[in-house]
Formats: sequence, structure tokens, C-alpha cells
Amino acid sequence: MEEDVRNVIIIGSGPAGYTAGLYSARALLEPLMFAGYMSGGQLMLTSDIENFPGYPEGIGGPEMMMQLREQAERFGLEVHDKNVERVDLSEIPYKVWVEGVEYRSKSIIICTGAESIWLGVEGEDAQKGRGISTCATCDGAFFRDEEVIVVGGGDSAMEEATFLTRFASKVTIVHRRDVFRASKVMYERAVNHPKIEIKTHRTVKSWLSDDNGLTGAVLEDPRDGSTETMNCSGAFIAIGHKPITKFLENQVETDDSGYILHKRNTMTSIEGVFAAGDVVDTRYRQAITAAGMGCQAAIDAEKWLEDQH
Ligand code: NAP
Repeated sequence: MEEDVRNVIIIGSGPAGYTAGLYSARALLEPLMFAGYMSGGQLMLTSDIENFPGYPEGIGGPEMMMQLREQAERFGLEVHDKNVERVDLSEIPYKVWVEGVEYRSKSIIICTGAESIWLGVEGEDAQKGRGISTCATCDGAFFRDEEVIVVGGGDSAMEEATFLTRFASKVTIVHRRDVFRASKVMYERAVNHPKIEIKTHRTVKSWLSDDNGLTGAVLEDPRDGSTETMNCSGAFIAIGHKPITKFLENQVETDDSGYILHKRNTMTSIEGVFAAGDVVDTRYRQAITAAGMGCQAAIDAEKWLEDQH
């Protein structure tokens, strides 16, 4: 067990976590962050961020995360690139276990974000991390001059598809409806790209593979159940995300989909436990809104700690 009782432990990095770290460090709370083994969150897998104010030329996701971290560390944020295994929120000080070591804190800010959802159809598990991926930035270069599929109709699907045109000979976006959640600018960039084709009213029924990897997909039209086979050697699933809350073991109230609920400002159902970013947000899910909420959570934690005296 670590002897000190901390003022605030921040769980998770990404724009919400680092901003919470920056604000609580500047409030002299000497925050401790467990950033996760893969620190930086989803933006570490994003090529270009074009909509964060202040970057007229855009900025790479990893570069932005590095800068946010540096900025927070300059004011004293202590960062450990480790995962939190479990927490005990039954009494103050709250307990947090990391690699078997117990840490204690008067308050906690949860910024664990969200992770990709998979389709869960036949043939997927065997090809995960081989032909089927949820991250074009990570795996796109494996499909040089090959045909790939992107599944989804939101900004992630458009972004992945546009990025993949750098490598693939053809990118087919497969979407289950003919209405797209994606923003107009990202949809139009994809739809007007000569290498991108869009197939609407199609879901993936199963993946096809041989000894060398993925060979294609069986697509189904949900309107009449008709099927067709499509060849591809790579597939990227971009159908959304689910919040990362398993380590909380239901100690904090969530909605039916597992997103943490705010009770008072950014405070959760537990006094002194705050949450910010994609682990809470079912609506905006932007880097800028996550950063803003991280700031709010740090200010809320600071005020709450003050009120405890
Ligand atoms: P999203 O907006 O929720 O879109 C998910 C897409 O996947 C929808 O088109 C949905 O179809 C489809 N889908 C969901 N479950 C499916 C299933 N089981 N089978 C087939 N299709 C399925 O998710 P997202 O694209 O990951 O975006 C999440 C948030 O991040 C959004 O707020 C977005 O603006 C933001 N984002 C922003 C940027 C950027 O600005 N650079 C980049 C990426 C993401 P339906 O429409 O039919 O439900």
C-alpha cells in the first residue's frame, strides 16, 4: 500500500484526463494519473484532428496527446502508464489497485473513455487483428493495393475510409441504412473520393477467409434478406464505441448502455467521484468537449475537496 492519501487520482488519459490533470495540478492538488498501458486514449489512433480550435492546419492525434500530457506534467501531474484493476468506492479514502498495489485518494476523476464495438458476426473472432481491425491508422498500411471494406455510417467510418484510400486500391463503405450520421463535410469527402464506393442497406452477415486470411464478406440487405458476396482482404469496423467501466464493478451508477451518469455537475452517484469525457458522453464525443468536461471535473473536485474541510 502507498502511504500517502492523495487529493485526487485521475483514471484514464485522453483529452478529458489530461485536462483534468492540468487543472488539478494548477490547483496544487498534486494529482496522480493512471493513464493506462496505452496512454492517450482513442486519439492515439487518429491521424488528423481538424476540428480542435487553435490548430488551423490540423494536428496529429498522438502529437496532441503528447503536448497535453507535457503541459499537465509541467504543472506537476504525476503520470503512471498503468491500468487500474479495480477500485473500492465504499468509503473515503477511496482505494484504487494498480498492479496489486493499493493507492488511496479523497477524490477520483474517471476519464477512461470508450472502446470500439465489434460486429460479433460469424468468422470475425478468427480474423481479429489479422484481416479485420477497428483502427485504420494502426493497420491500414497492411492493405496496400488491396480492396477493403469499412462498416458504418458515422464520422469514424468516413474518416477510416478516407484514410484507407492512401493504401487500398478500393474502399467500400458498407452501411445498414441510407441515412448517415456522419457530418456533411466528412461524408462528402468520402463520397466524392474516386477510390470510395458506398453500399447502403447492407449489413455484414459473415466474414469469409482461407488459410491466408480474410477473403470477403457475405452482405445482407435488411429490407428483404437477400445476400451477396463481396471480395476484400481487409475490413475495418467503425460502428461506434462502448464506455470502459468494467473495473468499477457497478459501484457507480450508469445508464443501460454502461455510460456513467452525472448526478451533480460532473459528480457521479458517489460523493467525491467525478467522471468526464467519452465514459459519460452519449451525445457529443468530441476531443474538445471531452477536454472541456475534464476541466469541469477538476474544478468540481477542487471545490468538493474544499467543502470537506
Ligand atoms: P456513430 O456516430 O455512433 O456511428 C456509428 C455508425 O455505425 C452508425 O452509422 C450506425 O448505423 C452504425 N452501426 C452501429 N451498430 C451497427 C451494427 N451492429 N451493424 C452495422 N452498423 C452499425 O459512431 P462514430 O462514427 O464512431 O462516431 C462517434 C462520435 O465520435 C460521433 O460524435 C462523431 O462525430 C465523433 N467522431 C468525430 C470525428 C471527427 O470529427 N474527426 C471522427 C470520428 C468520430 P445507424 O446510423 O443505422 O445507427
